[in-house]
Amino acid sequence: MKSDIRVCSAWRDQHDRPRYSLSETCPDCGAPTENSAPAPFDPEDPYGEYRRALKRRNR
Ligand SMILES: [Zn+2]
Repeated sequence: MKSDIRVCSAWRDQHDRPRYSLSETCPDCGAPTENSAPAPFDPEDPYGEYRRALKRRNR
């Protein structure tokens, strides 16, 4: 257990990117948050932004 950071369970519908929070509900949309341990994206990943931009461009 390395962190208590949680992520909005509805971020794919409600937000452009994962909405992280420490509370049990998303402060933006009110959806329940879930444990982000197996995070879909690493917010610390320095190349994440670049990689996603590439993916978007290749679509
Ligand atoms: Zn949300």
